[in-house]
Amino acid sequence: MKDALSSPKKYPVYCPWCKKEGRTTLVAMSTVEYSSGICKKHADELRKQAKEQAAHQAAQLNMFNR
Ligand SMILES: [Zn+2]
Repeated sequence: MKDALSSPKKYPVYCPWCKKEGRTTLVAMSTVEYSSGICKKHADELRKQAKEQAAHQAAQLNMFNR
C-alpha cells in the first residue's frame, strides 16, 4: 500500500456522450478529478458532424455567390 500512497491519485475520465446513452466508457485516467474526455467513437462522430456543417455552410455560400 506504500506505493499507492506515494504515487499521485488517478481519477477515471468517462465520456459524457456515452454516459448520456447509458454507457460508461473509460477514456483515460487523470490526476485531476472530474476532468472531461471523449471516447474515440464520439470524437469521430463530432468531427464528422462539424465537417457536414462546414460543407452545408459552404453550399449555402455558393448559392449566394451565384
Ligand atoms: Zn463516447
